[in-house]
Amino acid sequence: MAASFASNKCNSGNVAKSQTPRSIRTCLPTLDFEVDTKYCARKMLITLGGNLNECPLNLLPRLQHLRARVTKEADGGLDLFNGKIALSVNPTVRRHQYAQMTQAFKTLARCPDFQKWINETRASVGLLKDEWTKHAPLYAQTFSSITKLDLSGMNYKVKVLHPALPAGASVNEGDIIEWRYVGEHFPEYLRFNVHTSYFMHFNATFLLHEVLHHKNLLGVSHNHAIIQLATDNEMRKRLAHLDYPPFEGHKCDIPVMAKIYDEWQDFLKGKNGTTILDFAKRVERTMTSAPPGKL
Ligand SMILES: [Zn+2]
Repeated sequence: MAASFASNKCNSGNVAKSQTPRSIRTCLPTLDFEVDTKYCARKMLITLGGNLNECPLNLLPRLQHLRARVTKEADGGLDLFNGKIALSVNPTVRRHQYAQMTQAFKTLARCPDFQKWINETRASVGLLKDEWTKHAPLYAQTFSSITKLDLSGMNYKVKVLHPALPAGASVNEGDIIEWRYVGEHFPEYLRFNVHTSYFMHFNATFLLHEVLHHKNLLGVSHNHAIIQLATDNEMRKRLAHLDYPPFEGHKCDIPVMAKIYDEWQDFLKGKNGTTILDFAKRVERTMTSAPPGKL
Protein backbone atom coordinates (compact mmCIF):
# COMPACT_ATOMS: atom_id res chain seq x y z
CA MET A 1 0.00 0.00 0.00
CA ALA A 2 1.70 3.16 -1.17
CA ALA A 3 -0.33 5.72 0.79
CA SER A 4 1.65 7.56 3.41
CA PHE A 5 0.76 6.52 6.91
CA ALA A 6 1.66 10.00 8.09
CA SER A 7 -1.38 11.33 6.26
CA ASN A 8 -3.71 8.96 8.12
CA LYS A 9 -4.83 9.17 11.70
CA CYS A 10 -3.08 6.42 13.55
CA ASN A 11 -6.19 5.18 15.30
CA SER A 12 -8.33 5.15 12.19
CA GLY A 13 -7.52 1.48 11.52
CA ASN A 14 -5.57 1.78 8.28
CA VAL A 15 -5.75 -1.87 7.14
CA ALA A 16 -4.09 -3.45 4.13
CA LYS A 17 -5.68 -6.84 3.45
CA SER A 18 -4.12 -9.77 1.70
CA GLN A 19 -6.58 -12.63 1.44
CA THR A 20 -5.91 -16.28 0.70
CA PRO A 21 -7.82 -17.22 -2.48
CA ARG A 22 -11.14 -18.91 -1.76
CA SER A 23 -10.49 -21.33 -4.60
CA ILE A 24 -8.23 -23.38 -2.35
CA ARG A 25 -10.70 -25.89 -0.96
CA THR A 26 -9.03 -27.58 1.93
CA CYS A 27 -9.69 -28.44 5.54
CA LEU A 28 -7.72 -25.34 6.46
CA PRO A 29 -9.38 -22.21 7.79
CA THR A 30 -9.22 -19.08 5.68
CA LEU A 31 -6.50 -16.76 6.93
CA ASP A 32 -6.77 -13.09 6.04
CA PHE A 33 -3.31 -11.62 6.51
CA GLU A 34 -3.33 -7.91 7.20
CA VAL A 35 -1.21 -5.03 8.40
CA ASP A 36 -3.35 -3.07 10.83
CA THR A 37 -1.44 0.10 11.60
CA LYS A 38 -3.40 0.71 14.80
CA TYR A 39 -2.58 -2.76 16.10
CA CYS A 40 1.06 -2.38 15.03
CA ALA A 41 1.25 0.98 16.82
CA ARG A 42 -0.05 -0.50 20.06
CA LYS A 43 2.47 -3.29 19.94
CA MET A 44 5.22 -0.85 19.05
CA LEU A 45 4.33 1.29 22.05
CA ILE A 46 4.46 -1.75 24.32
CA THR A 47 7.91 -2.49 22.92
CA LEU A 48 9.04 1.10 23.42
CA GLY A 49 7.71 1.05 26.97
CA GLY A 50 9.68 -2.09 27.78
CA ASN A 51 13.31 -3.14 27.87
CA LEU A 52 14.84 -2.31 24.50
CA ASN A 53 17.92 -4.37 25.31
CA GLU A 54 15.86 -7.44 24.41
CA CYS A 55 15.39 -6.11 20.87
CA PRO A 56 17.71 -6.96 17.98
CA LEU A 57 20.87 -4.87 18.30
CA ASN A 58 20.84 -3.61 14.72
CA LEU A 59 17.40 -2.09 15.23
CA LEU A 60 18.20 -0.51 18.58
CA PRO A 61 19.01 3.00 17.23
CA ARG A 62 15.70 3.10 15.33
CA LEU A 63 13.74 2.05 18.40
CA GLN A 64 15.60 4.49 20.66
CA HIS A 65 14.81 7.30 18.24
CA LEU A 66 11.11 6.41 18.24
CA ARG A 67 11.06 6.14 22.03
CA ALA A 68 12.70 9.52 22.49
CA ARG A 69 10.22 11.17 20.17
CA VAL A 70 7.11 9.58 21.66
CA THR A 71 8.32 10.22 25.22
CA LYS A 72 8.97 13.88 24.46
CA GLU A 73 5.68 14.59 22.72
CA ALA A 74 3.20 12.24 24.36
CA ASP A 75 3.28 13.80 27.82
CA GLY A 76 4.08 10.65 29.72
CA GLY A 77 1.79 8.49 27.58
CA LEU A 78 4.54 5.97 27.09
CA ASP A 79 4.49 5.13 30.80
CA LEU A 80 1.05 3.65 30.26
CA PHE A 81 2.34 1.06 27.84
CA ASN A 82 3.71 -1.58 30.11
CA GLY A 83 2.04 -4.47 28.39
CA LYS A 84 -1.37 -4.17 29.98
CA ILE A 85 -3.28 -1.08 28.97
CA ALA A 86 -2.11 -0.78 25.40
CA LEU A 87 -4.03 -3.80 24.16
CA SER A 88 -7.27 -2.87 25.87
CA VAL A 89 -8.32 0.56 24.78
CA ASN A 90 -11.77 0.30 26.29
CA PRO A 91 -14.03 2.04 28.82
CA THR A 92 -12.01 0.73 31.75
CA VAL A 93 -9.23 3.09 30.71
CA ARG A 94 -9.77 6.47 32.32
CA ARG A 95 -10.35 9.51 30.17
CA HIS A 96 -6.98 11.16 30.80
CA GLN A 97 -5.15 7.90 30.16
CA TYR A 98 -7.04 7.48 26.91
CA ALA A 99 -6.03 11.02 25.88
CA GLN A 100 -2.38 10.22 26.61
CA MET A 101 -2.55 7.03 24.59
CA THR A 102 -4.21 8.83 21.69
CA GLN A 103 -1.41 11.39 21.78
CA ALA A 104 1.18 8.62 21.81
CA PHE A 105 -0.47 6.99 18.77
CA LYS A 106 -0.54 10.30 16.91
CA THR A 107 3.09 11.02 17.70
CA LEU A 108 4.13 7.60 16.49
CA ALA A 109 2.07 7.98 13.31
CA ARG A 110 3.88 11.21 12.43
CA CYS A 111 7.30 9.64 12.79
CA PRO A 112 8.83 8.71 9.38
CA ASP A 113 10.69 5.82 10.91
CA PHE A 114 7.40 4.28 12.01
CA GLN A 115 6.21 4.49 8.40
CA LYS A 116 9.35 2.63 7.38
CA TRP A 117 8.55 0.05 10.04
CA ILE A 118 5.04 -0.38 8.61
CA ASN A 119 6.39 -0.71 5.07
CA GLU A 120 8.75 -3.47 6.19
CA THR A 121 5.83 -5.18 7.89
CA ARG A 122 3.83 -5.00 4.64
CA ALA A 123 6.71 -6.59 2.75
CA SER A 124 6.63 -9.52 5.14
CA VAL A 125 2.88 -10.06 4.59
CA GLY A 126 3.54 -11.01 0.96
CA LEU A 127 6.09 -13.59 2.07
CA LEU A 128 3.70 -15.07 4.61
CA LYS A 129 0.79 -15.20 2.18
CA ASP A 130 2.88 -16.74 -0.61
CA GLU A 131 4.24 -19.43 1.69
CA TRP A 132 0.78 -20.25 3.09
CA THR A 133 -0.83 -20.37 -0.37
CA LYS A 134 1.95 -22.26 -2.13
CA HIS A 135 2.01 -25.08 0.41
CA ALA A 136 -1.71 -25.09 1.31
CA PRO A 137 -2.32 -28.66 0.02
CA LEU A 138 0.61 -29.98 2.10
CA TYR A 139 -0.53 -28.06 5.19
CA ALA A 140 -4.12 -29.22 4.72
CA GLN A 141 -3.16 -32.86 4.33
CA THR A 142 -0.81 -32.72 7.33
CA PHE A 143 -3.17 -30.78 9.61
CA SER A 144 -6.11 -32.98 8.67
CA SER A 145 -4.29 -36.26 9.19
CA ILE A 146 -3.08 -35.14 12.63
CA THR A 147 -6.17 -33.43 14.03
CA LYS A 148 -8.93 -35.01 11.87
CA LEU A 149 -10.57 -31.58 11.86
CA ASP A 150 -12.21 -29.79 8.96
CA LEU A 151 -11.90 -26.04 9.56
CA SER A 152 -12.66 -24.98 6.00
CA GLY A 153 -15.65 -22.87 7.13
CA MET A 154 -13.64 -20.88 9.65
CA ASN A 155 -12.04 -17.52 9.09
CA TYR A 156 -9.31 -15.76 11.04
CA LYS A 157 -7.71 -12.37 10.70
CA VAL A 158 -3.95 -12.60 11.03
CA LYS A 159 -2.59 -9.31 12.37
CA VAL A 160 0.94 -9.34 11.05
CA LEU A 161 3.59 -7.59 13.10
CA HIS A 162 7.07 -6.47 12.11
CA PRO A 163 9.49 -9.42 11.86
CA ALA A 164 11.59 -7.87 14.64
CA LEU A 165 8.78 -7.96 17.21
CA PRO A 166 7.97 -11.07 19.20
CA ALA A 167 4.55 -12.36 18.18
CA GLY A 168 2.46 -15.47 18.43
CA ALA A 169 -0.95 -15.21 20.04
CA SER A 170 -4.61 -15.89 19.50
CA VAL A 171 -7.04 -13.18 20.47
CA ASN A 172 -10.54 -14.58 20.84
CA GLU A 173 -12.35 -11.31 20.30
CA GLY A 174 -12.84 -11.06 16.56
CA ASP A 175 -11.09 -14.36 15.82
CA ILE A 176 -7.70 -12.71 15.59
CA ILE A 177 -4.29 -14.33 15.36
CA GLU A 178 -1.17 -12.29 15.91
CA TRP A 179 1.92 -13.43 14.02
CA ARG A 180 5.08 -12.23 12.31
CA TYR A 181 7.05 -13.69 9.42
CA VAL A 182 9.87 -15.97 10.47
CA GLY A 183 11.99 -17.21 7.62
CA GLU A 184 14.86 -16.92 5.24
CA HIS A 185 13.35 -14.73 2.54
CA PHE A 186 13.87 -11.37 4.09
CA PRO A 187 16.40 -8.57 3.52
CA GLU A 188 19.81 -9.24 4.97
CA TYR A 189 19.50 -6.62 7.69
CA LEU A 190 16.48 -8.42 9.11
CA ARG A 191 18.05 -11.86 9.12
CA PHE A 192 18.28 -11.83 12.93
CA ASN A 193 14.75 -13.01 12.59
CA VAL A 194 15.92 -16.50 11.59
CA HIS A 195 16.44 -17.71 15.14
CA THR A 196 17.96 -20.96 16.27
CA SER A 197 14.66 -22.79 16.63
CA TYR A 198 13.65 -22.05 13.02
CA PHE A 199 12.67 -25.02 10.85
CA MET A 200 10.99 -25.45 7.48
CA HIS A 201 7.30 -24.43 7.48
CA PHE A 202 7.73 -22.69 10.84
CA ASN A 203 5.06 -20.09 10.02
CA ALA A 204 2.35 -22.61 9.11
CA THR A 205 3.11 -24.79 12.12
CA PHE A 206 2.62 -21.91 14.55
CA LEU A 207 -0.25 -20.28 12.68
CA LEU A 208 -2.11 -23.58 13.06
CA HIS A 209 -0.98 -23.74 16.70
CA GLU A 210 -2.74 -20.39 17.21
CA VAL A 211 -5.80 -21.56 15.25
CA LEU A 212 -6.16 -24.46 17.70
CA HIS A 213 -6.02 -22.01 20.59
CA HIS A 214 -9.25 -20.35 19.66
CA LYS A 215 -12.02 -20.49 22.20
CA ASN A 216 -14.19 -23.03 20.45
CA LEU A 217 -11.35 -25.51 20.10
CA LEU A 218 -9.76 -27.59 22.81
CA GLY A 219 -11.34 -25.70 25.69
CA VAL A 220 -9.96 -28.01 28.34
CA SER A 221 -7.34 -27.53 31.02
CA HIS A 222 -4.66 -29.65 29.33
CA ASN A 223 -5.23 -28.05 25.96
CA HIS A 224 -1.84 -26.48 25.55
CA ALA A 225 0.00 -29.78 25.91
CA ILE A 226 -2.26 -31.27 23.21
CA ILE A 227 -1.89 -28.26 20.91
CA GLN A 228 1.88 -28.52 21.24
CA LEU A 229 1.87 -32.26 20.53
CA ALA A 230 -0.21 -31.64 17.40
CA THR A 231 1.72 -28.67 16.00
CA ASP A 232 5.09 -27.90 17.60
CA ASN A 233 5.92 -31.62 17.61
CA GLU A 234 3.89 -33.73 15.14
CA MET A 235 3.53 -31.08 12.42
CA ARG A 236 7.20 -30.19 12.83
CA LYS A 237 8.09 -33.86 12.52
CA ARG A 238 6.09 -34.30 9.30
CA LEU A 239 6.94 -30.97 7.67
CA ALA A 240 10.57 -30.58 8.74
CA HIS A 241 11.51 -34.21 9.48
CA LEU A 242 12.48 -33.43 13.10
CA ASP A 243 11.46 -36.22 15.45
CA TYR A 244 10.25 -36.07 19.06
CA PRO A 245 10.67 -36.65 22.00
CA PRO A 246 12.43 -34.64 23.31
CA PHE A 247 9.36 -32.46 23.24
CA GLU A 248 9.12 -28.99 21.79
CA GLY A 249 7.02 -26.44 23.67
CA HIS A 250 6.66 -24.58 26.90
CA LYS A 251 8.66 -26.21 29.68
CA CYS A 252 5.70 -26.17 32.05
CA ASP A 253 3.66 -28.36 29.65
CA ILE A 254 6.29 -31.02 29.04
CA PRO A 255 5.35 -33.28 32.01
CA VAL A 256 1.76 -33.47 30.68
CA MET A 257 3.01 -34.10 27.15
CA ALA A 258 5.17 -36.95 28.43
CA LYS A 259 2.23 -38.41 30.39
CA ILE A 260 -0.14 -38.46 27.46
CA TYR A 261 2.43 -39.33 24.79
CA ASP A 262 1.42 -43.02 24.45
CA GLU A 263 -2.26 -42.12 24.22
CA TRP A 264 -1.39 -39.43 21.67
CA GLN A 265 0.45 -41.96 19.52
CA ASP A 266 -2.61 -44.22 19.67
CA PHE A 267 -4.80 -41.28 18.64
CA LEU A 268 -2.61 -40.72 15.58
CA LYS A 269 -3.18 -44.39 14.69
CA GLY A 270 -6.95 -43.89 14.79
CA LYS A 271 -7.78 -44.71 18.42
CA ASN A 272 -8.85 -42.57 21.40
CA GLY A 273 -11.29 -40.32 19.55
CA THR A 274 -12.54 -39.38 16.12
CA THR A 275 -11.00 -35.90 16.19
CA ILE A 276 -8.48 -34.09 18.35
CA LEU A 277 -11.44 -32.56 20.20
CA ASP A 278 -12.60 -36.02 21.29
CA PHE A 279 -9.03 -36.82 22.29
CA ALA A 280 -8.87 -33.65 24.39
CA LYS A 281 -12.09 -34.59 26.21
CA ARG A 282 -10.73 -38.07 26.82
CA VAL A 283 -7.49 -36.67 28.27
CA GLU A 284 -9.47 -34.32 30.48
CA ARG A 285 -11.58 -37.17 31.86
CA THR A 286 -8.55 -39.39 32.43
CA MET A 287 -6.41 -36.68 34.01
CA THR A 288 -9.12 -35.68 36.48
CA SER A 289 -9.83 -39.29 37.54
CA ALA A 290 -6.26 -40.64 37.61
CA PRO A 291 -4.26 -40.78 40.86
CA PRO A 292 -1.37 -38.26 40.97
CA GLY A 293 1.44 -39.29 38.62
CA LYS A 294 -0.67 -41.91 36.81
CA LEU A 295 -2.64 -41.78 33.60
ZN1 LIG B 1 0.15 -21.79 22.55
